[in-house]
Amino acid sequence: MTVTDTPIDVTAPIEHTQLLIGGEFVDALDGKVFDTINPSTGEVITQVAEGSAADVDRAVAAAREAFENGPWARMKPNERAAAIWRLGDLLMADAAEMGRIETLDQGKPYAYAMGGDVPSAAGLFHYMSGFATKLEGSTIPISAPGNFHTYTRREALGVVGLIVPWNFPLTISAWKLAPALAAGNTVVLKPAEATPLSALRLGQLALEAGFPPGVFNVVNGYGSTVGQRLAEHPGVDKVSFTGSTATGRRILDAAKGNLKRVTLELGGKSANIIFPDADIEAAIAGSSAGIFYNAGQACAAASRLYVHDAVYDEVIAGMAEKAQQIKVGDGFDPTSEIGPVASKEHFERVSSYLEVGKGEGEVVTGGARIGERGYFIEPTIFAGAAADSRIIKEEIFGPVVVATRFTDTDEVLAQANDTRYGLASGVWTSNVATAHSVAARIQAGTVWVNSYGVFDPSMPFGGMKESGWGREMGHDVMHDYTDVKTVCVNIDG
Ligand code: NDP
Repeated sequence: MTVTDTPIDVTAPIEHTQLLIGGEFVDALDGKVFDTINPSTGEVITQVAEGSAADVDRAVAAAREAFENGPWARMKPNERAAAIWRLGDLLMADAAEMGRIETLDQGKPYAYAMGGDVPSAAGLFHYMSGFATKLEGSTIPISAPGNFHTYTRREALGVVGLIVPWNFPLTISAWKLAPALAAGNTVVLKPAEATPLSALRLGQLALEAGFPPGVFNVVNGYGSTVGQRLAEHPGVDKVSFTGSTATGRRILDAAKGNLKRVTLELGGKSANIIFPDADIEAAIAGSSAGIFYNAGQACAAASRLYVHDAVYDEVIAGMAEKAQQIKVGDGFDPTSEIGPVASKEHFERVSSYLEVGKGEGEVVTGGARIGERGYFIEPTIFAGAAADSRIIKEEIFGPVVVATRFTDTDEVLAQANDTRYGLASGVWTSNVATAHSVAARIQAGTVWVNSYGVFDPSMPFGGMKESGWGREMGHDVMHDYTDVKTVCVNIDG
């Protein structure tokens, strides 16, 4: 299926707007609703139930019941695996509608939502389903006096709260849901209030895939109410959060009541370094995609660009040309390559950084809003900002890159690592020694060499330093959704 042969009725009604609790779509207890907005137009798409702390309480109760007593607790690992795999299949079959919803709510081009976000989320369910049958412990030869058979079991944690942001609403939900469910947990998912619709549709697909009631709950609402209650809830065993470092700190505070496990995938200010021996054309293309993809709303966005003096002018001219060519527009316009930023609030935040940047550096290209309707921002390149300027230090989370010239490897590594963040980075070089030595010295959870933004369900992703705790994806993620139990059996006859 391609974008062009898929008829899209952009205005078709949205099927699921309530909360999903205990296997049923229900209104919020107090009947409240809020508007969800199309960022391409600023218009209301529909109204969505606004959950409260009391709704979180009933979702957690449903998840607890499903974990302790429901059919989920008795399902064989291969049955759990089959349900998770089926959810991936159903998602692929639903790509046209799921893509429509994601584009309406988040703003990203439909081609990317349907052809990128949906298959990538489905791939997560397919990949992670296999772990359900492979959560193994080990037998341990112990040396304590006596005779013992000692082994470990890897067990689910219980009820897991998942708090996701608005930049990749479906994909980041899948990053968390797939391993949490494969491990046998039950979940309460809180989508960002700006983008609740794809999570609700995914909840419907989960029911169709055969997840018993209460295994997969969705509570829409605000971070300060629903998110906060989920993070502090004594009946939640773990919370996995993606979002800003500031909110990550609040989650930690809230989680300390019952010392719940916490995974944090937080912000970034990722350094992307172009050495003079790089394939310059590839570096220009990769670095442009690395910052402008998804209108720069990516935690791993290549937002700090360091270019060797010998190729600086060529690279910046090439990137400026690319930035000017990018078609920014409504996600349902098939020629759009990037959409708006996801909300009015975020538009104002990014716009304020454009003004800061004009004071701190020189505008190479961009720096302004596009049009009067919707939240569109020009792909922007700043240059010449001081190392301690705000546009180099702070996460902007928009289509904005700051370029800096360097001459020496030690110097550029010191600059690259001079940040509180440590999420991702890029290195462009044709020298294999430079590639590996620089990759080893960069303080970041992921280093892409001669590429940028390559993701795969098998690749662990997460942050060093203030970019977070724990990992999403890969084998490593399963440690974050399970606990180890040691069983020591006296077998002295
Ligand atoms: P937040 O970190 O506040 O939001 C992310 C999620 O956390 C949303 O679901 C939000 O809910 C929820 N949340 C907010 N407050 C709380 C709370 N007290 N307890 C529990 N959950 C909460 O990000 P913002 O939307 O405010 O964006 C601000 C900046 O954060 C961006 O400009 C960007 O720099 C960064 N960010 C980074 C992301 C990443 O992928 N690393 C993703 C998103 C943002 P709700 O939205 O409903 O209030």
